[in-house]
Parts: sequence; C-alpha cells; structure tokens
Amino acid sequence: MTKGGNDKGLEKTRSPSPDRSENPFAPVPRLREAEKIETDSRKQLLIKRIMKVYVIGIGLIGGSMVLDIKDQHPDATIFGIDSNEKHLQEAIDLGVIDQAGSFEELAEADFVIVSVPVDVALTVLPKVLDSVGDQTIVFEVGSTKKPICEAVASHPKRRNFIATHPIAGTEFSGPSAAIRGLFKGKTNIICEVEKTTFKLQEKALKLFSEIGMRIRYMDPTSHDKHIAYVSHLSHISSFMLGKTVMNKEKDEQDIFDMAGSGFESTVRLAKSSPAMWTPIFKQNKEHVLETLEEYISNLSRFRDLLKEEDYNAIFEEMESTNKIKEILNGLTTTKK
Ligand code: NAP
Repeated sequence: MTKGGNDKGLEKTRSPSPDRSENPFAPVPRLREAEKIETDSRKQLLIKRIMKVYVIGIGLIGGSMVLDIKDQHPDATIFGIDSNEKHLQEAIDLGVIDQAGSFEELAEADFVIVSVPVDVALTVLPKVLDSVGDQTIVFEVGSTKKPICEAVASHPKRRNFIATHPIAGTEFSGPSAAIRGLFKGKTNIICEVEKTTFKLQEKALKLFSEIGMRIRYMDPTSHDKHIAYVSHLSHISSFMLGKTVMNKEKDEQDIFDMAGSGFESTVRLAKSSPAMWTPIFKQNKEHVLETLEEYISNLSRFRDLLKEEDYNAIFEEMESTNKIKEILNGLTTTKK
C-alpha cells in the first residue's frame, strides 16, 4: 500500500485535524486517543484472560477454594481434573468449575490446586510438577505435611510448589459440599516456605489473602504433631463415640429420638469420609498413636475415678478442662 493511498483512506474516517508538522501545539487527533484507550483495554483484557486456575480433586476443599477465587477473579477460567467423572460433571453443572482440564494443559496454568486424598497426593503431586510451566504455582491442601513435602523434596520443580493446610472444612465431601466463604478468617498453615521461589510465594500469599485466610508458618513435623491433637484425634474420638452408641443402641430410632445437640455436635465428624481419613491416619501414624495413648489414659483415669467413687477428683478433672472455653473463645476472637 502506498503512503498516499494509506493517508487517503484515513482521511475518509478521521475528522479534519490541524497539521502538527506545521503547528506542534495543535491538539492530538481525538481518534488516536480513542485507539490508544481501546488498545490498552484490549491488553488489560488479555492479561486478565490468561489467569488459568486448575483444581485437581473437585471436592469440598478444592471446590470451595475455586468458588472463592472465581468471586475475586471473575475473568479467571477454572479448570477441573478429577478421577471421578460424576464429580467432574456435577462440578460443571453446579458452576464450581468452568470446564474440564487435563494434565497436558498444566504448562499454561497460573495456579494448580491439588486437593485429593493424601495418599493420592503422593503420586499426583510429582506428576503435576513434571507438567507445569515456570510461572505456575502449585499448592496442595492435604491434612498431613511431612510425607507430602518428602515426596517432592528433590523434584526439579520443587520451587514451584508451596505446601499448605487450610484449617477449614466440614464433614461432607464431593463438589456438592463446596461452599463459598469457607476459608474466611481461617488459618492456612504453610510449611517449608523458603523452598518456594519468592515470586511464586508472593503470588500464592496474595491469593490466600484475597480469600480471607491468615497465614501461619510451621515445619512439616510440627504441623503433623500438632494437627494430630486438634484434628486427627477429634475424628477418631467422634468415630468411636458414634460406634459405641450405635453398638449399644441397636434400635436406631431410639438414638434419633434421644440425641440432643450435645451428642449430635460431638458425633458430627463421624460422618466424614473413610476414604479421606484412612490415609491420613496411615501417614501420621506415629503422632496419632501418641495422642491416642494420652487420650486412652485420660479415659481410663476417668473410669477408675468413677469406679472408686472419687467425685471430688471427677469434679476437678472437669473443672480444669473448663479452661478450654477461654482458649476457644480466644481463638474465635482473634479469628474475627
Ligand atoms: P473430597 O471432597 O472427597 O474431594 C476429593 C476429590 O478428589 C473427589 O472428587 C475424589 O473422587 C477425587 N480424587 C480421588 N482420587 C483422585 C485422583 N487420583 N485424581 C483426581 N481426583 C481424585 O475431599 P476433600 O474433603 O475436599 O479433601 C481434599 C484434601 O483436602 C485432602 O487431602 C484432605 O486431607 C484435605 N483437607 C480436608 C479437610 C476437610 O475438612 N475435609 C480440611 C482441610 C484439608 P472420589 O470421591 O471418587 O474419590
């Protein structure tokens, strides 16, 4: 196209404007400004469009997380990968994810959330790291941290991984259990943060902050030890309380009729998925056994005091444990 031809074409669409070669103070043509704005907003749109979030395991935790991420980043595309075809379709139907994804696409991902049972994570996580690009941050949300950190310790892409455990959840599972706001005001425990590239740490921390989480740093062994007390033992206690009552009260209607809110809240965790909890107990066996020994010893002491009719000691046992109220109140206040 000749220079003259080009100019002619432009003359047809532009309104006459002063010649700036003769008058440098002449106003810049309006159309150029409009073109610039259009180009800028197109660029911004492209930048926003490239945010791709992949969630592997679209259940309670992975699903709830991407619901919150989508609220914060409506332009992001959420891809789901799940071995359970029914869950994958359900997640699409419920609007938890935008579409199904595949491992082959992970090189393009900005975020990959691995949210599968902890035994599965040991094999899935290295496979994910094999596939991701340099800009991808991968985080895993499992309830144990030491075996998972060990599984990727010498992976060439270890620096693309951040080990997390969001302390939030319910007793339900699958995509239909996913809920908005699950992580608001909750703690996210991060292990071995120094092993993650600084730029990718920042990317992950920004996302956690956007969905309302507070961060606590811990080494994997301390995490597994502490979590055995506050979470893993509570689940065993709830499962075995449920079992004890069910074995005794064969007529389920009686349990249902007499169950007050105390029984219901104490036994709530017994509805949790055995597929998720068996590998947790397996991976954290040493610490769980330690907590169980202490718990059984406390139960035995209570039984002995009752046998001996030492009601003063029973009263004192319960009174000293009442301190849990202050501790839990403190937790609730600081979480707000
Ligand atoms: P969930 O609701 O059962 O979701 C897990 C999903 O992963 C299910 O759809 C499951 O399908 C799928 N899955 C299983 N194996 C897979 C594989 N090889 N590849 C792809 N997908 C696979 O479980 P969740 O409660 O979200 O727990 C996910 C993780 O979060 C676990 O590591 C857990 O320790 C951790 N976590 C849980 C809680 C909690 O309160 N639940 C709290 C904090 C952290 P199937 O159902 O067919 O197996």
